[in-house]
Amino acid sequence: MERLAVTHDHTSGSDDPSMTPVGAPRLIVLSGPSGVGKDSVIETIRARAPWVWLSVSVTTRPIRDYEVDGVHYYFVDRAEFERRAAAGELLEWAEFAGNLYGTPREPVRARLAAGQPALLKIDLQGARQVRQALPEARLVFLAPPSWEELKRRLVGRGTDDEETVRQRLAHAQEELAAEPEFDVTIVNHTVEQAAAELVGLLSPQATHR
Ligand code: 5GP
Repeated sequence: MERLAVTHDHTSGSDDPSMTPVGAPRLIVLSGPSGVGKDSVIETIRARAPWVWLSVSVTTRPIRDYEVDGVHYYFVDRAEFERRAAAGELLEWAEFAGNLYGTPREPVRARLAAGQPALLKIDLQGARQVRQALPEARLVFLAPPSWEELKRRLVGRGTDDEETVRQRLAHAQEELAAEPEFDVTIVNHTVEQAAAELVGLLSPQATHR
């Protein structure tokens, strides 16, 4: 496993929005503890590297006011989610905080078959399932700069009661322990740096393994 840091050379030019990568198809799975900033990294990639293809997950979670159906997620009810899971339409799925989340299989397959890279942002349970289903996938762990920083981010969300915060921290500690299962760690010092490193992994020049 390699640990990319802020000093990692990510000057390959792959974050040039005009560039479409060619070469070996890559499936990159971004995961990491809750609160580490996966969503911010993904939003930065949406803005800075629009050529990056992001899988759109299906979820039973209620839509948030800034979200767009079909962009951030496909929002479905539990019966529809279960139908899709039973029909084998999901590459992986997991329950997270009482809601179901899954990756539609066909768009990922089509993307890789066309020789184009794909990026999935999913939880740890999902990352493990992708590892089983597609061993060639590259699993990327987004790590906080430190435990203290992650704690600050998790507690800093504000309004939750003590028990909820305690549970969240315990869960985060378990999630951090999964790092050795991953191929690469990106330390989220800044969103920009983490996003650039992730984009670098999607490009054909990225040969670390
Ligand atoms: P949120 O509700 O905050 O958007 O996401 C909650 C968690 O679900 C995050 O850790 C997110 O990465 C994860 N997640 C989102 N989509 C998927 C998916 O398709 N599969 C799995 N296993 N987890 C997902």
